[in-house]
Amino acid sequence: MSETTHHPRSMLVTGGAGFIGSNFVRAALDTDPELRLVNVDALTYAGHVGSLRGVAETHSSRYTFVHADIRDIDTVRKLFAEQDIDTVVHLAAESHVDRSIDGPIDFIDTNIRGTANLLEAARSTWHDRVDVRFHHVSTDEVFGSLGANGLFSETTPYDPSSPYSASKAAADHLVRAWHRTYGLPVTLSNCSNNYGPYQFPEKLVPLMILNALAGKELPVYGEGANVRDWLHVEDHCHALDLIVRRGRPGRTYNIGGHNERTNLEVVHGVCDVLDELRPAAAGGGRRELVEFVTDRPGHDLRYAIDADRIASELGWKPTYDFDAGLRATIQWYLDNQDWCEEVMRDQYDGSRLGLNT
Ligand code: NAD
Repeated sequence: MSETTHHPRSMLVTGGAGFIGSNFVRAALDTDPELRLVNVDALTYAGHVGSLRGVAETHSSRYTFVHADIRDIDTVRKLFAEQDIDTVVHLAAESHVDRSIDGPIDFIDTNIRGTANLLEAARSTWHDRVDVRFHHVSTDEVFGSLGANGLFSETTPYDPSSPYSASKAAADHLVRAWHRTYGLPVTLSNCSNNYGPYQFPEKLVPLMILNALAGKELPVYGEGANVRDWLHVEDHCHALDLIVRRGRPGRTYNIGGHNERTNLEVVHGVCDVLDELRPAAAGGGRRELVEFVTDRPGHDLRYAIDADRIASELGWKPTYDFDAGLRATIQWYLDNQDWCEEVMRDQYDGSRLGLNT
């Protein structure tokens, strides 16, 4: 399958103050010295300008931050017109499965309506231009759950389990429909679980690091047997850059790390590395802090990705081995305690979410 080449000049990144977004903004500006980048983010509980420290100072003439909400179509249209956008990398979303169980409507509004607003703004601004791209960032959770064997490919039927994954699935369908109906030059990616710097501490890896450091209980859902295919965020950002520049319009790419681990293995990994890097004052191994708690409703058993398409068509492969990537991530959290305190202040106390109680 032949690839095409796109040269982004003026890129709109949505959700660039979030975990993957802030890593992507940095990587995009560092990789392409000609690129102008506009980061639009509503700064929800999950978005922090502190995750972008140094970016404006280093790239001042090429970087603009706009505090705005993609649910507001007038604002989105204005952004396209005023900033002469030729490329979109759409990451903004409500992203936490447990929060989607407690309150699904925000997920519908941002993930579905917000995506539709961006598609409409792109369509009405770009008309029939072909030197433009709309890349939509999605998740492997749209495919539902695997059994003990098999992998998700780009042709696996959608079968989402949670309000989060259902809202992402709906957005994926809209993006494909805008391609088929209006010819909008879109690409999509469905990626496995990311880990790395700047991830909000409600997600498994940073939550376990911070709880373990504080000597708190490490809550593991069910028996900890659920399997995820872990990918370092820098490998994801590199994949996104390749797809934006060389992916074929209308095409979807699965992205995964070939790093399947059970949740319990991940938590034990965090405990063991922390025991080595920062031994507990009271002594004793941190694995003892693990508490098995009531499982997440609708918890998918296993996700794993067949990433052959992006490997063979675009030459992408992950560079991080999971154990080395996890160690580097733990070291980052140890070195950036101020960031952790800042993002959690008044936003999240580490308590259990998503029990639908
Ligand atoms: P995140 O929750 O860390 O960041 C989301 C960002 O979007 C935040 O900065 C938030 O302020 C912003 N945002 C939310 N609603 C908004 C709105 N209405 N208008 C403007 N900005 C808004 O999420 P993340 O983990 O960085 O995920 C980014 C994207 O990647 C999401 O689309 C997610 O579905 C997808 N994804 C994530 C993973 C993962 O493991 N984290 C894996 C695959 C795909």
